[in-house]
Amino acid sequence: MKTVAELRTAYIKGEMKPSEAVAAALAVIKEKDEEIHAFLAVYEDALEAAKAADTLYAEKGADTPPLLGVPIALKNNILMKGKKATAASKILENYTAVYDATIVEKLKAAGAIVVGATNLDEFAMGGSTENSAFGPTKNPVDTTRVPGGSSGGSAAAVAMGAVPVALGTDTGGSIRQPASYCGLVGFKPTYGAVSRYGLIAMGSSLDQAGPLTNSVADAELIHHTIAGLDKMDATTITDDTYPAVTTKDAYTFGVPRHFLKEGVDASVLEAFEQHIAVLTAAGHKVVDIELPLFEKGLAAYYIVMPAEVSSNLARYDGIRYGLSVEGDNLLDVYEKTRAEGLGAEVKRRVLLGTYVLSSGYYDAYYGKAELVRKQMRQELDEVFKTVDIILTPTAPTPAFKFGSNEDPLAMYKQDIFTVPVNLTGVPALTFPMGTVEGEGKQLPVGVQYIGPHGGDARLFHIGKAIYDERT
Ligand code: GLN
Repeated sequence: MKTVAELRTAYIKGEMKPSEAVAAALAVIKEKDEEIHAFLAVYEDALEAAKAADTLYAEKGADTPPLLGVPIALKNNILMKGKKATAASKILENYTAVYDATIVEKLKAAGAIVVGATNLDEFAMGGSTENSAFGPTKNPVDTTRVPGGSSGGSAAAVAMGAVPVALGTDTGGSIRQPASYCGLVGFKPTYGAVSRYGLIAMGSSLDQAGPLTNSVADAELIHHTIAGLDKMDATTITDDTYPAVTTKDAYTFGVPRHFLKEGVDASVLEAFEQHIAVLTAAGHKVVDIELPLFEKGLAAYYIVMPAEVSSNLARYDGIRYGLSVEGDNLLDVYEKTRAEGLGAEVKRRVLLGTYVLSSGYYDAYYGKAELVRKQMRQELDEVFKTVDIILTPTAPTPAFKFGSNEDPLAMYKQDIFTVPVNLTGVPALTFPMGTVEGEGKQLPVGVQYIGPHGGDARLFHIGKAIYDERT
C-alpha cells in the first residue's frame, strides 16, 4: 500500500488490518534496512498500538480518527516522549525525550502509529545524510548514491516501502531535496503554519516540519493534521494571518530563467522543460519572471542559518543535555564535551555563526544578510502580483554518489533553489517531474512549486491535479 488514502480505505472495508500493515512495515525494515540504514531506531511496540487500532476499526469503521493505524516514521530531531532524540549527533546519543513535540501529539491523536526514528545529517545540517554521526543512509533507488538530506532517512524510509509517510524538517531544503532524490512528494509549509515545539532547533526563523509521501493528497492530509496555532510556539500563525490565497482552474506559473543557468545539470533542465510542456498542455500559463535577489539567497542563508545554529546549539554544553565529558573546570567541560560530541560540519557552522554575530562583524554580515532577506521578501510579493506560482527544479542535479560533494561549498550549492523559500517563509511543494539517466539507472528529479505566504492550499490543489491524477 503506497498511500495513506489506500490504507485507510482498506482498513475501513476490512480488507486489511492495521496490525498487518504495521507488521509489514516492520518486515520491510528488517529485510532492507541493514543495507539502507534509514532508521536509527525501530519501535516494536508499534504492534501493540496496531492491535488496538484493529479493534477500533472492527467496532467503528469509518467513524475513527483519519490516520488510525497508519504506520509513520519520524526524523530523529522530532521529540517523542520516552524515545531517544539524537539528532544523529554523538552529543545527544543517549538523550531521551521527556515530552511529545506538538506535531507528534497531533499525529498520535489522529491515530498514526510511529514505527521508528529516521536518520539525518547531524542536527539537520547537510544535504546527503553523510553527516550523521551514526553512518549514512543509502538511496533505495540506487544504493551507490545519497538519499539527499538532511531528512535522508525519512525519504529512504518511504522510498524503500517501509512506510507511506515520514516526517521531516526543512530549514533550507531538507524535506524537498531528499524527496527529489528519492522520487517522492515533499512539502515545506508557510513559516509558522506548523508548530516547532519539540523539534530540535537548527535555524529557528527557518525551520518547519512537513511530510514526505507518495502522493500530494497524503502530504495535504498530513500537513492538515500537524498544522495550527500552538500556544507553545509564538510564531505559529492562523488561517487569516495572510490574505486568502485563491485556487483556480488555470494558474500562471513564473519561471526565473536567469536563475537556471549555472551549475544545473542539462538533464535536469530537460526534464524541467518537459514539465513546463505538461503544464501548458493542461491549460496553465508559464511566463518568465525576474527574481534577481534569489541569486543572493544562498549567500544570505549561509550567514543567517549558521548565526542561528551557533546560538541554538549553545545549550549542548555537557551540563544540560546528553553527553558530558569530565574536565578540570566548567569551561574545560564545555570544551571537551563539544569537541568530542559535535561533528565537523556542525562545528564549521557554529564557528561561522559565532563569527558573523561577533560585535565587529555583525553589521557587515548578519545585518546585511537580514536586509537581503527582507528585500527578497519584497521582491517575491511583487512577483506574486503577476504570477500564482513560481516554478523551479527542486535541486540542480539528481542524487549524487557518496563522497562526491566533499567540498562543503559544492554541497551548499545543492540548496540553490530551496533556501530562498525558507529565507522568505513561503510554502513550497516538490514532486517527481520525471527521471534522468545516471550510469544506466533512471534517477528521479523533482520540480518545485513555490506559493505566496499562506498559499499552502493552492500548492496542494495544483499538485493533486498535475501529479496525483497522472500517476
Ligand atoms: N542542506 C541545507 C543545509 O545544509 C538544508 C538543511 C535543512 O534544511 N535542514 O543547511
